[in-house]
Amino acid sequence: MPIESTNPTTGTVVDTFESDSGTDRDDRLERASDTFEGWRETSIEHRQQLLSAAADVLREGRDDYAELMSREMGKPIGQARDEVEKCAWVCDYYAEHAAEFLADEVVAGEPNARTLVTYQPLGPILAIMPWNFPFWQVFRFAAPNLAAGNVGLLKHASNVPGCARAIEAVFREAGFPAGAFQSLLIGSDEVDEVIADDRIAGVTLTGSDGAGRSVAETAGSELKKTVLELGGSDPFVVLEDAPMEHTVETAVQARLINSGQSCIAAKRFIVVDDVYDEFLDRFVEAMDGQVVGDPMDDATDVGPQARADLMDDLHEQVEATLEAGGECRLGGEPMDREGAFYPPTVLTDIPADSPADSEELFGPVASVFRVPDEAAAIEQANDTRFGLGASVWTADLARGERVARQFESGLAFVNELVKSDPRLPFGGVKDSGYGRELARDGVREFVNAKTIWVQ
Ligand code: NAP
Repeated sequence: MPIESTNPTTGTVVDTFESDSGTDRDDRLERASDTFEGWRETSIEHRQQLLSAAADVLREGRDDYAELMSREMGKPIGQARDEVEKCAWVCDYYAEHAAEFLADEVVAGEPNARTLVTYQPLGPILAIMPWNFPFWQVFRFAAPNLAAGNVGLLKHASNVPGCARAIEAVFREAGFPAGAFQSLLIGSDEVDEVIADDRIAGVTLTGSDGAGRSVAETAGSELKKTVLELGGSDPFVVLEDAPMEHTVETAVQARLINSGQSCIAAKRFIVVDDVYDEFLDRFVEAMDGQVVGDPMDDATDVGPQARADLMDDLHEQVEATLEAGGECRLGGEPMDREGAFYPPTVLTDIPADSPADSEELFGPVASVFRVPDEAAAIEQANDTRFGLGASVWTADLARGERVARQFESGLAFVNELVKSDPRLPFGGVKDSGYGRELARDGVREFVNAKTIWVQ
């Protein structure tokens, strides 16, 4: 079955790709396994040099890669260019730091022996990735793992096959061996078989919690290590002393980044009573002022949703929330134009357990909650099965840090929107998953921390 790439701005098929099911899949697994045997023996300095070359390839091809993303999943073009730059950054970051992060650690204490820990690669790692940051999610897995001496097999989301092939080509152009990083154009129904294959040593998935549960179950039964980066319903807590202009400006950006389709987008705006009306009025006005349109146009803030069916799901969540008694202050209906366009939307008076309260809304829909005070804000922020990111807005930095420490989340920001950064570990708790990507923690997920004792 060929895999189609559909442009969500127009709804038309722009490309088709042959799937790798069957013998192609097996050939790629075999190549990965063979390549690993040599790759694990290469010096880390060599692998770092190749990562540096990959950063150069990305920067040289930035505009083409950005256009590919915008065409396949509708990302506004400026954000797509930034995404390519960020991928180059994470390659450079591990090119610079991987040796230090993976160096042997001598452990003192046993007087008559040399005792140390070494960090050795595990083998071919399967990476199952989503479409929303179709380059970044892949590079933040690939850069540390290639540096560590693992090889990668990418099962990308089915709507971004062009991105999957382009990423494979980046590593080839940079000089990596053909089996170091390959994409597998297969459906999700084939993933279990690949996980169970003896040639696969570990699995990482970035995506929904449903997919995470399924992958973790299969990997668990095979006793293979997993990292899961799943969904989120990040709270954005506004306290009474928040600098309002900056807070509102960032709130809009935090909700609408990637046309609202980000795991760490702020989704629940929790505002204390004293400033609720002021925040809401300004927020609705600013959301209304965003430019929705063609993602290829630099002036566009919000593009289409990545797939028409995903927009329909989002709209069902909005309708169910309104039927349960919620209020719609802005937007709330798919736009009357070609393509999967949903407008910036603001919901208030959200009933407990309605979709806007209890589920992840993966699009440009903000849920605003009124709470009496800081303690209630923290309670509301943590009243979710997710635990990815969280932010708090206040003029008092000590207070902000105190609140940040009380969030049940993997990332907590004070006066800044939640974002990933190669220098800091990234990941969630609760239903947002487990394990960490990026920084030192990320490069040590798929390695054997081997104890060596020399008497
Ligand atoms: P998704 O439907 O879960 O898909 C993610 C990947 O998993 C795709 O490659 C998909 O393949 C595959 N997949 C789906 N069901 C599977 C199954 N049962 N077994 C094996 N593989 C399966 O998620 P999405 O719609 O692409 O992405 C949106 C979700 O990802 C949101 O919940 C978002 O919050 C989350 N996300 C999390 C992070 C993070 O870092 N924590 C980052 C970005 C996104 P097909 O496309 O072929 O179905």
